[in-house]
Amino acid sequence: NLLALITMLLLVSCAGNQKQLSEEDQFVEDLLMKMTLAEKVGQLNQYTSLWEMTGPAPAGNAGAEALLEQLKSGMVGSMLNVNGAEATRKAQQTVVENTRLGIPLIFGYDVIHGYKTMFPIPLAEAASWNPELARQSSEVAAKEAAVSGLHWTFAPMVDVGRDARWGRVMEGAGEDPYLGSAFARARVHGFQGDNLSNEFTIAACAKHFAGYAFSESGRDYNSVEIGNETLHNIVLPPFKAAAEAGVTTFMNGFNTINGLPVTADSYLQRDLLKGDWHFDGFVVSDWNSIGEIEIHGAAANSKESAERAIKGGSDMDMEGRAYISHLEELVTEGKVDEKLVTDAARRVLRIKYRLGLFDDPYKYCNEENERQMILTDEHRAASRKVARESMVLLKNEKQILPLSTNAKSIAVIGPLADDKDSPLGNWRAQAESNSAVSLLEGVKAAIEPSVKLNYAQGCALSVGTRNFSDRMTFNETDRSGFGKAIAAARQSEVVLLAIGEDCYQSGEGRSMTDIKLKGLQQELFDEIYKVNKNIVVVLMNGRPLAIPEIAEKAAAILETWHSGTEGGHAIADVLFGKYNPSGKLPVSFPRNVGQCPLFYNYKNTGRPVGQTPEWVLYSCYNDAPNTPLFPFGYGLSYTSFSYSDMILDKEIIAKDGQLTINVSVTNAGKVDGEEVVQLYIQDIAATYARPVKELKGFEKVLLKAGETKELTFTLTEKELGYYFPNGTYVVEPGQFNVFVGTNSEEVQKATFSIQ
Ligand code: BGC
Repeated sequence: NLLALITMLLLVSCAGNQKQLSEEDQFVEDLLMKMTLAEKVGQLNQYTSLWEMTGPAPAGNAGAEALLEQLKSGMVGSMLNVNGAEATRKAQQTVVENTRLGIPLIFGYDVIHGYKTMFPIPLAEAASWNPELARQSSEVAAKEAAVSGLHWTFAPMVDVGRDARWGRVMEGAGEDPYLGSAFARARVHGFQGDNLSNEFTIAACAKHFAGYAFSESGRDYNSVEIGNETLHNIVLPPFKAAAEAGVTTFMNGFNTINGLPVTADSYLQRDLLKGDWHFDGFVVSDWNSIGEIEIHGAAANSKESAERAIKGGSDMDMEGRAYISHLEELVTEGKVDEKLVTDAARRVLRIKYRLGLFDDPYKYCNEENERQMILTDEHRAASRKVARESMVLLKNEKQILPLSTNAKSIAVIGPLADDKDSPLGNWRAQAESNSAVSLLEGVKAAIEPSVKLNYAQGCALSVGTRNFSDRMTFNETDRSGFGKAIAAARQSEVVLLAIGEDCYQSGEGRSMTDIKLKGLQQELFDEIYKVNKNIVVVLMNGRPLAIPEIAEKAAAILETWHSGTEGGHAIADVLFGKYNPSGKLPVSFPRNVGQCPLFYNYKNTGRPVGQTPEWVLYSCYNDAPNTPLFPFGYGLSYTSFSYSDMILDKEIIAKDGQLTINVSVTNAGKVDGEEVVQLYIQDIAATYARPVKELKGFEKVLLKAGETKELTFTLTEKELGYYFPNGTYVVEPGQFNVFVGTNSEEVQKATFSIQ
């Protein structure tokens, strides 16, 4: 094939004078030269598993038989949703042994926060403000997935999520691009390790490129209308961080941005990602997002969708069948340059090479390892550790927490109190249903036998089926369990009330117009409150909830999110003081859904509250404050921390200079604890208005009771500049504020300028 030969010669001649082709390039180019156009297109085609790959296609199932034929003839380069060493081996064998060139499949799967051992949902892990933990959890997830024959996870989702109505905020690291970038890097390193060909690491995928989380009114899959300033400063940084960390794949999204489907966006995928960012892996579409170009109204048919997607830089077609149906024809007709197809195939082959699949296509299918290395005690312990560090203490009136393990009586109440499924969260890969430790189980294991434990569910949260694809129906009427719950509360010193969201209440397709507690939960709280004021609310949820009444009346609130396989144990660790809570919110909690999207790094209006003369109308709601119920970065501890004056080493720095900020933090309480020290800046006067605060540094420190530590933060041009709407990064001279503190609102302030 002539084109491949020319490309090859060009590559060789370019490299000729400088350096030899790397072994990888050599291998891939040699292979490409042998491939027909149809075989290259096959590499770009990804199907989901249609039948149990361990058995033959069910008789008479034309779809499955046709798929089998396609696998055997090299028309499929990747599969998703096939898992397990046996199934992947079988599918791999079908391809390797029957196709002309024996190019192995790459198996992808949504391993989002664990494979069988579930870790807390990604939003929760971000609340630890300890990216190293996310690295560790991703490493464990990768190991369990890899020994089950998987090569590739569709994670991390690095979409900055500002809108609590959008169900997928649970999958990301919250509302901030700086924190999001730190977690993006950590997850990529965790999944991929140092060496992709290691049999316990897998390829990662930064998704959804880009803008998906900004869907209008928080409704999933909706259009996105954002300006380029937001795109460059808020949306893109975590993707860039993932690319810099060496992520091997990207996934684009279902959404349009300002009318252009991102799957067809050549600026994002070609100019920026593959150009400026030097990304040499491949871009997979989201599920049929190539087909959806037509549905958006940006292509007349599937063939045009394929044309726009390949030109736009989408390399692999997930379940859209547009590439396999039309790409060859598009090339033959001269509408698509074969070079584009070759380059897409090159990228896919490159990653297969890096995974070591050409050395041994079955290296990840290890039944023995699969038996030994999944859901081990070690993995469970890791999950428990991550879970407790992810929890955020939102309120603790009169130090009701920690509880004593030999209290006289404790009531455990609520629809989520003995739920062994919800802690697993949405996107639970291969976790078995109902396999988490419930709160009730966790409490039972933690307390002395003498404690009187009074359990009552109170009410169910939903009625009917609940799973990944069904919409939930909430229980609005069945109060039959209230009586028992009220009695339990009356008989107990303290009530642990587990409320929030079912695991399928947040996640893909789970947008909400209201983020209050659903069903009868608020009513249950109110009834219990009438008989016992010592209510410790244990919140389990995947998104910020608007809970002003709870915040006012509960004695304590512990945000535990959907906390994974060991959830109940981890919650008990915190409730009974075995672990001193250290999490901080990675998202603002609104008072009211009408405030959404609500985020701390907003830009000032020309008429801000408090700075506008009284006789002028100013920017506010008339029925609620502008402020959040709990701000970004907020979280309490069983001890208290005090900050001494911060010291800047200079008042003026050059554009390429460096500023050092020192601050001393003291544990002023009686128990050891960890504090997340946060640093924010504000560029006071810039060409484009900048946010009132932007996170630019944080550090989690362990301080023994009474101990003081001095921390040093450094700001350089990397932190001090921003992107103009055209994508140029600039550091502008002028005055800046710098803030250091315990959350985004309680801070100390100093100023400096850039000359
Ligand atoms: C989601 C992706 C996911 C894919 C494969 C899509 O619906 O948007 O995030 O990776 O399905 O399961």
